[in-house]
Amino acid sequence: MTRLIFLGPPGAGKGTQAQTLAEHLNIPHISTGEILRQAMKEQTPLGIKAQSYVDSGELVPDQLVQDLVQERLNQSDAQSGWILDGFPRKVTQAAFLEELLEKIHQSGERVVNLDAPDEVVVARLLARGRKDDSEEVIRRRLEVYRAETAPLIDYYRDRQRLLSVNGDQSQEEVTSELHQLIAS
Ligand code: AMP
Repeated sequence: MTRLIFLGPPGAGKGTQAQTLAEHLNIPHISTGEILRQAMKEQTPLGIKAQSYVDSGELVPDQLVQDLVQERLNQSDAQSGWILDGFPRKVTQAAFLEELLEKIHQSGERVVNLDAPDEVVVARLLARGRKDDSEEVIRRRLEVYRAETAPLIDYYRDRQRLLSVNGDQSQEEVTSELHQLIAS
């Protein structure tokens, strides 16, 4: 049973790697950012609530993402494993997830920290050209990452859940490092 959380700054390659690995393992890739972008596109109540936060590089309120993750992990395809990408993004969300996983008997998750230096992630994000990838919003997302999300590295290290992968290599090299890591 593979249950993985992908952690790392925006632009480290989390999304691509999480998706590739999830396909390889035939388990769902659950990206809160993607779910939010889809909801915004469809202008659902969730999308309308999330829009201004996502567009400015801020985190959406915990309750919104926590509800959607809880619902998603209860779906039948998530019972055989999953990869969470972009959640949790702060300690309060990690504490929520810990409690949720215990309650639904899905504990035993491991956390992959995919890291890369600032100049590398900024260059990658600028090349990507998503709507929330303007230079100003990128800068804000990196600040939010450092202040809110990076503390999760210690949080999961303390709980002996952390695995680290160097995101500053080619996509193929990262994929191969990941395969080795989860096989061990
Ligand atoms: P991502 O695709 O993971 O880079 O997420 C894009 C945006 O969605 C972020 O900049 C946040 O505005 C929002 N978002 C995604 N996941 C979360 C989360 N766990 N908590 C709060 N906001 C989130």
